[in-house]
Amino acid sequence: MRTVDEHLAEVLAHAHPLEMLDVSLLDSRGCLLAEPVTAPWALPPFDAAGTDGYAVIAADVAGATPDSPVALPVTDTVPAGYRASHPIAPGTAIRIGSGAPMPTGAQAVVPLEGTDEGTANVTIMCAVEPGDGVRRAGEDLDKDVTVLPAGALVGAREVALLAAVGRSRVTVRPRPRVVVMSTGTELIEPGAPMTPGLVPDSNGYMLTAAAQDAGAMAYRAGPVRDEARALMDTLEDQLVRSDLIVTTGGVTAGTYDTMKTVLARLGSVDFTRVAISPGWAQGHGYLGPDHIPIFTLPGNPASAFVAFEVFVRPVIRRMLGHRQVFRPLIPARLTHPVIGRPQARTYLHGHLHGRADERLVSPIAEPGLQGLRLADSLIVLPEDSGEIPAGAVVSVMPLSRN
Ligand code: AMP
Ligand code: MG
Repeated sequence: MRTVDEHLAEVLAHAHPLEMLDVSLLDSRGCLLAEPVTAPWALPPFDAAGTDGYAVIAADVAGATPDSPVALPVTDTVPAGYRASHPIAPGTAIRIGSGAPMPTGAQAVVPLEGTDEGTANVTIMCAVEPGDGVRRAGEDLDKDVTVLPAGALVGAREVALLAAVGRSRVTVRPRPRVVVMSTGTELIEPGAPMTPGLVPDSNGYMLTAAAQDAGAMAYRAGPVRDEARALMDTLEDQLVRSDLIVTTGGVTAGTYDTMKTVLARLGSVDFTRVAISPGWAQGHGYLGPDHIPIFTLPGNPASAFVAFEVFVRPVIRRMLGHRQVFRPLIPARLTHPVIGRPQARTYLHGHLHGRADERLVSPIAEPGLQGLRLADSLIVLPEDSGEIPAGAVVSVMPLSRN
């Protein structure tokens, strides 16, 4: 019997960030940058109007007010995306759109609201200082500065910054390709006719979604019957396109031998009893010439979920290059007594509530997938904790929703 920590150390021992890969900008979302990114130009790249209005020389409109306006001839119109055809001449104005480059010699932009919006001539009713209404080149960022360090997680705002510095492709630690394969002769596709003895494959969908939530590119294979030929064929097919394989089911008496024989032919997998509740039957090893890691998780959906959270998710996070691969644990006070399984670390479905400085956690009474669905956290009871009374403080692993 292995402890949870021993098994975790074992499954993480050979888990490494994947080889860096050049990907298109949107494909980098959810990945960590493998290299720092610098700005090849300043941001903004040129002095630009910060508002729609009239570019002027500040001295020409000094003292302008609604009661003593200044009239100037308008010599050009520059929408965003265009440049003025000539430098500004003293005593004139150039109509300009927000984002357009400032005409040479112009110092400020009088916003439309301070004018009569004239076309040939404009009446200006407010004075401006040099720089007013202008977004200066380099105001946000100097050329050659690092805009994102290696290891930065790419989300919507990082993608914006990368686009702004001209990157259509970036080098990242790619998402691991995870294949989730359910085994069980009783399993059918959701939506297929239900006859007595058959159940829809929940695990395949649950763990594919969970792997995607963890940041992987996850695919579902199967469900596969508990037959050597079918298991072998599916695994061989999937091996070539995966960085990690997760199976569920087939590791209890009756089907265990089939699974064990097939996996022994493809690689080396250790089937271990792990001191965890639910789901002590855990397998882990490596398949094929590329030593693709494989987890064989228990078939019971609640057990499969806990095993995924505790053992598989950290491996996916490590492959993505994250430093922090574990979900954080937080303390919370039990509202009801709970009992830990003897000689096992016990994970119970929990509901967190209360205030940030006095968190409470309630065990969820509903069984099965419904209880799992209602849980927003797992209550983690240490090995041999026995009965824990209401009011005691326990460790809780929040299961954040993305
Ligand atoms: P096993 O580990 O294969 O003996 O499965 C244990 C229990 O979980 C059995 O009741 C199975 O029917 C059920 N089970 C196994 N795999 C799945 C699955 N993919 N989806 C839903 N239930 C499953
Ligand atoms: Mg089974």
